[in-house]
Amino acid sequence: MENIEIKAYAKINLSLDVTGRRDNGYHDVRMVMQSINLYDELTICRVPWNETEGGNDTPDKNGRITIESDTTAVPLNEDNLIYKAAKLIMDECGIKDGVRIVLKKNIPVAAGMAGGSTDAAAVFKGMNSLFELGLEQERLCDMGVKTGADVPYCIMGGTALSEGIGEILTPMRAMPGCIILIAKPDISVSTGYVYTAFDSLKEKMHPDVDAMISAIDMGDIREVSKLLGNSLEGVTQEEYPIIKEIKQIMLGNKALGALMSGSGPTVFGLYDDRAQAEETAKMLRQLSGIKDIFVTEPYNV
Ligand code: ATP
Repeated sequence: MENIEIKAYAKINLSLDVTGRRDNGYHDVRMVMQSINLYDELTICRVPWNETEGGNDTPDKNGRITIESDTTAVPLNEDNLIYKAAKLIMDECGIKDGVRIVLKKNIPVAAGMAGGSTDAAAVFKGMNSLFELGLEQERLCDMGVKTGADVPYCIMGGTALSEGIGEILTPMRAMPGCIILIAKPDISVSTGYVYTAFDSLKEKMHPDVDAMISAIDMGDIREVSKLLGNSLEGVTQEEYPIIKEIKQIMLGNKALGALMSGSGPTVFGLYDDRAQAEETAKMLRQLSGIKDIFVTEPYNV
C-alpha cells in the first residue's frame, strides 16, 4: 500500500469538569466526549526514503515529512500536530521512508472541537496501517498523549469518559440519537488563557459528570440535554458574550439543550428535530459574528 485516506472526526464535550491543577500546569479533567459527523480528510502517502525531496541519502536518517493543505489557518511546518505525530511514530518505530500528508480542513480551527488532536490521531492510525506496524490502540494512545491530551480520545472516538489529563479513557454506550447544531463565533480563544482564568475563579462550576453518564446509559436524550455542563463556559462567555447569545437563540428555538464545547468558542445545540435545527441554523447565518455553522449528528465508531 502506498497511500491511505482517513477521516479525522471532531468532538464535542457533553460534560467537562476541571477537577484540579497539577504542579506542571496540566489540569485534571473528567469529560464526556462525543465524536460528531464533521471531519477533516487526510491522505497519507508513503515516499521511499531514497526518493524524499532533498535527496535523503543517509538510510539512518528519518524520511522527510511534508504537509499540504487547502487552508492557511494552520501552520504546515513542524508546528502542525500532524507533523509532530508523524515524527513521533517514525522515531519510535524506526521508519525510514518519508510521508507526504494532504489535509483537507473542514473542522474550524481553535474552536474547542479538537481539530488538531483529531488530525494527529488520524496520522497515528493511518501510519499504523500504511506501514503495517500492527500497533495496538493502547500503544497508539501512549504515543498520542505525548502530542496532546485529547489525542488518545481522538484515537478511540465515539462516546467516552476521559479522565486524568485525558489519557485515562473509558468507552461508553453511544449517546442517544439526535441532531447537533454547531455554531462557531468568528473569534479565536486561547485554551491557555481560559484555564488560567478558570484557576483564579473563587466559585468554580462543576457539572454532574456521573449523572450525564447515567443519562447516556439510559439512552435518554432529554436528560442528557438537561445535564449538559462545562466548567470553562463561564470564563469564555464572560470574555465573549456572543457565546451566551448563540445559546439563547438555540434554546429559544427548541434546542433540547445547548453548551459551549471545550474551552470554546464553539456552541452546540442538541435537537430531536432536523428541520428545527436547520431553521435555527438559517437564523444564525443572518447574524454577524458567527463564522461556521453546521447541522450534523453524533458519530459512533
Ligand atoms: P481542543 O478542543 O483540543 O482544545 P481546538 O479545537 O480548540 O482544540 P485546534 O483546532 O486543535 O484547537 O487548534 C489549536 C491550535 O493548534 C491552533 O493555534 C493551530 O494553529 C494549531 N494546530 C497545529 N496543528 C493543527 C492542525 N492539524 N489542525 C488544527 N490546528 C492545528
